Formats: sequence, C-alpha cells, structure tokens
Amino acid sequence: MGRFLGRLGLALVLALSLLSKQIDAAGPTYLKVKVFSAPDFVTVAARSGFVFFDPSGRRIAEFPGRAAVRLTREGSMVVLPDGVRLERVRVAPSEKDKDGLVVVMERPYRGELEVWATSGGLNVVNVVSVEDYLRGVVPVEMSPSWPEEALKAQAVVARTFAYKNRGRHAAEGFDLCATYHCQVYGGAAVEHAASDRAVAVTAGLVLRYNGELIDAYYHASSGGHTEAAGALWGTEYPYLKAIEDVWDRTGPYAEWEVSFTPEEIAVLLEKAGFPVGRLEDIRPVAYLPSGRVASFLIRGSSGEWTISGEKLRQVLGTTVLKSTWVEIEKSPVYPQEGVQMVVQRANGQGKKFIPLGTLIITADGITAVGGSRSSYPIPSRGGRSDQIVFRGHGYGHGVGMSQWGARRMAESQTLPDPEFFRQILTYYYQGVTIEPY
Ligand SMILES: [Zn+2]
Repeated sequence: MGRFLGRLGLALVLALSLLSKQIDAAGPTYLKVKVFSAPDFVTVAARSGFVFFDPSGRRIAEFPGRAAVRLTREGSMVVLPDGVRLERVRVAPSEKDKDGLVVVMERPYRGELEVWATSGGLNVVNVVSVEDYLRGVVPVEMSPSWPEEALKAQAVVARTFAYKNRGRHAAEGFDLCATYHCQVYGGAAVEHAASDRAVAVTAGLVLRYNGELIDAYYHASSGGHTEAAGALWGTEYPYLKAIEDVWDRTGPYAEWEVSFTPEEIAVLLEKAGFPVGRLEDIRPVAYLPSGRVASFLIRGSSGEWTISGEKLRQVLGTTVLKSTWVEIEKSPVYPQEGVQMVVQRANGQGKKFIPLGTLIITADGITAVGGSRSSYPIPSRGGRSDQIVFRGHGYGHGVGMSQWGARRMAESQTLPDPEFFRQILTYYYQGVTIEPY
C-alpha cells in the first residue's frame, strides 16, 4: 500500500500516529501503578521535554526539557497552568526522546504518567510496561548485591505477582499500588545494573501450576522451615507446601531474640483494641505444622483474648516480632497466689514461696496450701526480672520462597549455571512450571 502514499499521505499518517501516540495501557504487558497522591497539587517534568494529552488522546501542550509544571486540583478536575480543566491528563515524554523519563515530584519513572482528580486529591499513576516496572521492584525487594541466580528467581516471582494481581485496584482506577500492599515499586530512581540484568535475562518468564499463574508468595527468611499456605491462611495451594528448608538455617534471621516489658506489650495491645489492663499472661496455645504459633492466649486484669500469631506480629510490629516461629520465655513479676512459708534448710531457717494449691506432706497428712495472697518474682535466666523474651526463627510469614534461602542456594553453586534460578524456584514452589507469560 506504500505506493499509494504520496508525500501528503505520509505526512497525514505521521500526524495521526503522533495524535494517537499513546501507550496501550489496556495491553496485556502494561500496568497502571499508583505512585503518588497529594491533596492540592503535583509537579511534573521530564528530562528532555514532555507532552500533555487529554483523555481522548488530543495533544494539549508541550514543554521543553527541564521545565517543571504544576498541576492543581479544582473539585474533581485537574487544572493545567494555562487554566484548562481536564478530568484526566496524560503526561508523556516528548517524541524526540520516547525512552525519556517522566518525573513527578522529582521522582523519575519510565513510561507515562496519568494524573486525575477526585474530591479527595490528585492521583498519579505510572503507565509502564511490566518489564520496566520490574526494574523498579526487584532491587527494592532484594539487594542488587546478591547473587545473580537469586535475583533472577526474584524477578520471575515479582513478574508472576504483577500479572497475577493486575487489576487488584481496578475499582480505584489502577492495577497495583507501589507499597508493601502490592509490591514496593521505586521507579527509575532505584534501578541497578544487576537487577536490570536479572529482569532482562528472564524477560517474560512466569510461574504456573496446571497452566494457571501461581500466587507467588515469598518472605525474607524461613529460618529453616517454610509454612504451608493452607495452615496459615486456610486456603490450600498445592505449590505452597511446608518444606524443611535446608538452605535457610544459617541466615541472619535463622535465630533472633526480642524482649518487651509486660507494660510495653499491654500498651501495644490496648492500641490495637485489646484493653488487657495489666498483662498477666501471654503464651502460645496452638501451633501450625511447621512449629509457627497459630494463636496466642493473652490474659490481663481486664480480660482474656485468643489472637492469631500473625495478629500478634502486627500488634508488636512485624519488623520487631519477625515471625511467629517463637518460643516465649517469661521472666516478669507475675502475680501468683500462694503463701510464704518458713522452711527448715540445712543452713538454717528460710522463707519459701509456695503457690496456692500446692500439696504438702506434713506429719498430720497431706494438706493444700491456702491462705493469703502474695506475689513472687519468678527468677529470670537473663538476669532481668521484668522481661518477656521471644526467641524466634525466620523473618516473614514463611510461605513460598525464602529470599535468604534463595541466596544461600545460589551461593552454593560451584560452577555458574545460568539456569540455576529454575532450581531455586521449583524448590520453594512445588510442581510449578516456568514459562513465558
Ligand atoms: Zn496494593
């Protein structure tokens, strides 16, 4: 058909393609990721110029490189600097530099931006290809200094998550958020050559089970045993079984310890809606098959609750109580009922605390200790008498891939094997296939 195109025709085609130059945001390999919101205004820019388009794809304005433009909000309309009001404005790098970065509030992104207003504020969404999105995810989720095969496994996992959860925020007008709720996405500012390479060499590869994209859960450290999704969340996944994780017994989170005073725990519980009063007891009452705590009993002067292990992690802080695979060592002054009795010892008379109900054999027979209340400090092994010590293993929920385990596996390679990331993935996700999306 080229021969039918005269010069005028060619110019017309070019003009049309410029008019409609627009990322196909509905295309299967693009994502809309919410990267910013602000109540009143946002500032947008691009390294070498940018163009505004209205929702119909019409060019509204063009700005040179280094220009920064402030978009403000009026009701649920976006107001451009010249006063034009739009429901939505698309910000694209100028055609001269279509791989250029777009910048919002000084943070650079690949692809394009969409800005729209709601009565609550301005939202900024990054319209970006999945592969470029991953360049801003992998280095945040795993340090780029880690072995290449571990980074490649992380890239496949993050890509699988992105496709599987595309549209998770559809009701709010985008696919994924840029926080821990979905995956942390830092845009172009966090990119690193090593993670870029891991994304590029695994381009398009995702994890499937029976042909379906999997829920590729992962966590920082299993501590030596992963958790079955079914035991933790009640939904069985054939590829998320609890496994003995021989690779993650020596990571930095394999063993840890954190301690609180009973008062600290009581304050945190109160904030979370459990007004325990004075904390009297906290202990595991049910376990998951991996040994992680399914639920804790919490008893205070004002009430008693049974809460899930994950809930207690949230209450105490998920970075503080790193996992629910814990034992508790209590050395607080727990009020306990009993009596002080005078006892005869080899070196003379002494006092001994006898808990209420203890059976004592005397010359007159067996009697149970009764009488006045008293309290007795349980001796502390660590020398402090007011602490509740959690000794734990692992970091995170324990389901799916352990990142530290992936690292240790990759480090175990004696000869470089560019396909080794597949072994990491099939170790943590049982029975999956690794194939192009
Ligand atoms: Zn989200």
